[in-house]
Amino acid sequence: MESRIDPWGAVEIKDYEKVFSEFGLKRFPEEYKKSLDHLVFRRNIVYAHRGFEKVYERIANKKPFINMTGIATSGYMHFGHKLIIDIFNFFKECGAKNFFGVCDIDAYVSRPDSKIPALIEAKKYAVSNLADALALGLGRKDVYVQSRKEQRYYEFSFELSKKITSATFQAIYGHLDLGKVSANLLQYADILHPQLKEFCGKMPSVTAIAIEQDPHMRAVRDLAKKLSYSLELPSSIYITHQPGLKKGMKMSSSVAESAIFLMDSLEAVENKIKNAFTGGRDTVDEQRRLGGNPEICSVHTLLKFHYPDDKKLEELYHDCKTGKILCGECKQFCIKFVSDFLRKHQKKVKRVEPLAKKMVFG
Ligand code: SF4
Repeated sequence: MESRIDPWGAVEIKDYEKVFSEFGLKRFPEEYKKSLDHLVFRRNIVYAHRGFEKVYERIANKKPFINMTGIATSGYMHFGHKLIIDIFNFFKECGAKNFFGVCDIDAYVSRPDSKIPALIEAKKYAVSNLADALALGLGRKDVYVQSRKEQRYYEFSFELSKKITSATFQAIYGHLDLGKVSANLLQYADILHPQLKEFCGKMPSVTAIAIEQDPHMRAVRDLAKKLSYSLELPSSIYITHQPGLKKGMKMSSSVAESAIFLMDSLEAVENKIKNAFTGGRDTVDEQRRLGGNPEICSVHTLLKFHYPDDKKLEELYHDCKTGKILCGECKQFCIKFVSDFLRKHQKKVKRVEPLAKKMVFG
C-alpha cells in the first residue's frame, strides 16, 4: 500500500528510503553539495530534491531563478524556521527572484480554532514572523503578506481550483477539510504565481521543504501541467528535520521546552540548553574514557544546523568522541553561541517591528 504523508501531521518519517522510491525523490548529488556554498549542503541537511537540476544550472550560469518559500503564521518562529530563512537568503545571494510568503490566511483556515480562533490572531503572528524574517536579512521586496497580496494572485488561485478534483484531494491528503482545501489552493498559487507574466514570467523555481510538505509539491507540479499557461515545473529540495532539545522530537512550536524561539529570553535559552538531551555518558569518568555520542546529541545537532564554522564544529565532534570535552562545557559553548545570536537578532527585530506592522495591517 502506498504511504500517505500528512502535511499537517507531526509524524517522524523513519524509512526515508521507502519514501524516496515511492515518491520518486532524488538524492541530493555530491556535485551540488560541493559547489553550493552553504552549511545545509556541506552538512547533508539537504538530502533530496525533486527537479532541482534546472535551478542548479541557472545558479552555475549566474542566471535568475525563482526562490519561493513561506511560513504559515500560526505561532512564533524558532530555530527550525530560521534554517528555512537561512536557505532562502542563500538562494537570494545566488541571484534569485525572491518570494517569501507570510501566510496568515493559510494559517487561519488550515489550523483548528483551538490554535487560531480568528484571522486577527494569524495576523498578529504574521507581524512577529515578518519582523523575524526582516531581521534575519530579508528585504521588504523579498516578502509578501498573503492577506495583502495582489488581486491577480487570488484570481489565479481560483483558476487553479478548476484544475484539481475532490477525488485528487482525497487521494493525496486523505480528507476534504474545506479550510485545508482552500489553504492548499493558496499554497499552489504561492508556488506557481511568480511564473505568471505579471510577476517574473516562466522560470525554474525552488522551494525548500520538509518531507511532509511533499504532497503539496506533487499536487502543484501536476497542476502546472494542466494549466493553459506555459510554466516550468517547480522544484523542491528536502531538509532534514531539525531535532528538538528533547529526545526523539523534532523542533516544534507545540513543545516549548524542546524549541529555541527567536524571541526567547537569554535565561530561557540557558535553561533549555542546560536541560537538553545529549549523547553524554552517565558519569564523568565514563565520558573521559569512552567519549560521548554527538550523533544523537541535541546540543551538537543545534550547532550542526546553525553554527557557521565547520572547523570548530569538527573539533567539538572530535573532542566529544575522544572524551576531551564534557557536556557541561559543550552546553556552555552552545548557550553562548545562541545567546550572542539572539541578543543581536532581538535588537534588529525591535527596529523592524514598525515596518512589519505596517506591511501586515497597512
Ligand atoms: Fe553532546 Fe557535547 Fe555532550 Fe558530546 S560533549 S554528548 S556533543 S553535549
